[in-house]
Amino acid sequence: MSGHLVVVGGGAAGMMAAGRAAQIIAEEGGDAQVLLLEKTSRLGNKLRITGKGRCNLTNDCGVDEFISHLGPHGVFMRNAFARFFVRDTIAFFHAHGVPTVTERGRRVFPASNNAHDVAEALRAYCLAGGVQFRYRSPVVGLTPIQEGGWRVELAEGALVAQAVILATGGLSYPGTGSTGDGYALARALGHTITPLRPGLVPLVVAEEFVSRLQGLSLRNVRATLSQGGRLLGSEFGEMLFTHFGVSGPIILTLSSRGAEALATTGPAELCIDLKPALDEEALDQRLLRDLSSLARARYRRFLKGLLPASLIEVFAERTDISLDEPLGRFTAEQRARVRHLLKHFCLTVTGTRPIQEAIVTLGGVACDEIVPQTMASRLHRGLYMAGEILDVAGDTGGYNLQVAFTTGFVAGENAARALGNGR
Ligand SMILES: Cc1cc2nc3c(=O)[nH]c(=O)nc-3n(C[C@H](O)[C@H](O)[C@H](O)COP(=O)(O)OP(=O)(O)OC[C@H]3O[C@@H](n4cnc5c(N)ncnc54)[C@H](O)[C@@H]3O)c2cc1C
Repeated sequence: MSGHLVVVGGGAAGMMAAGRAAQIIAEEGGDAQVLLLEKTSRLGNKLRITGKGRCNLTNDCGVDEFISHLGPHGVFMRNAFARFFVRDTIAFFHAHGVPTVTERGRRVFPASNNAHDVAEALRAYCLAGGVQFRYRSPVVGLTPIQEGGWRVELAEGALVAQAVILATGGLSYPGTGSTGDGYALARALGHTITPLRPGLVPLVVAEEFVSRLQGLSLRNVRATLSQGGRLLGSEFGEMLFTHFGVSGPIILTLSSRGAEALATTGPAELCIDLKPALDEEALDQRLLRDLSSLARARYRRFLKGLLPASLIEVFAERTDISLDEPLGRFTAEQRARVRHLLKHFCLTVTGTRPIQEAIVTLGGVACDEIVPQTMASRLHRGLYMAGEILDVAGDTGGYNLQVAFTTGFVAGENAARALGNGR
């Protein structure tokens, strides 16, 4: 093996790709050099803020379930997962000094709870293989050379590479360096970029009262997103009110399910079931019991037993019943209104927060233009893609980083093996 392999982007996927390529070259006695070009002055900026600084690096579920969490193109990952999957990721980090722990929902974190440890392990992996790093080196152009290989344009000149791995990430959190450059580079080379949308992003709500609920966290609720009667998604778990709308784990998941509809068709309805463990009848029995035991109290006291304190005022307004209403005078119709709102606390979703605030970018380089076993472009020899640049995006729970590690590993391995043999 000879010549240079250039990896564009020093995030989770790019570092894994560069490290694995250097390892393969060393194992096979090659003399090719791996060069990692990073736009910012540090590797793994986004990786270092993942999981609220703890880095949920993968999810220890089976492959079928894993793929079901990767959106409409998840199946593209099956071949690559056969090469490098969850157990390999855990073993990799363990071998590089980062033991892991598995938490609720099979989420895997570094035992140190420190995302920097994950980024540093990848950096050390690259260094051990002799990868050269170049910081503050944004790639601005990529051109195939007639006789084979690539001209890699940098702001301050150009390099020649035999193969290139594009691992420039998505469009979200641009302060980390991920500003979507790779989409333009891939598009200029003829690749299809499917529509880019914010994924795992808070939702904006029309009702003004949400700002009064800011900071309220609801656990064990069911939220259902629909549009014109069409179900977009339904999730059980935890959510949060913010000054502009709603966020939290189940809302982020729903935002990805409804992204296309919200972007193209307009507002949607988000209905929160505040008492998902009780069906309407069981809930009615509960309300009747409460009303009879609180006959001398007022509506405010009744709601105290049913809702978090900060929701009581808004809830009472929405039922159009005064908080001072004596429960002794409560009618069956009023009880029905309370019951209905407990099961259908509905909000109008006008859209998502901007892509800059999204956890991931939905859309990207079309998967059918990439060989799933190798991450090689089907359009150009010596071009590979890895990470979020691809049109694969996962739910929250460690799915996105595993995609980055797997595609990086597979791209690095195959790009290195193809060096010098004309494949
Ligand atoms: C706040 C937040 C929390 C998250 N938490 C989790 C989590 O806990 N678990 C999980 O699985 N996923 C999480 N994610 C998603 C996950 O971080 C990403 O999916 C993952 O980092 C993608 O890896 P990547 O290597 O493809 O891209 P990135 O990590 O974005 O790296 C891309 C790199 O390319 C560089 N670059 C860009 N353009 C150029 C250019 N022209 N030239 C050279 N370099 C360039 C960038 O500077 C950057 O370093 C989170 C995301 C965010 C924003």
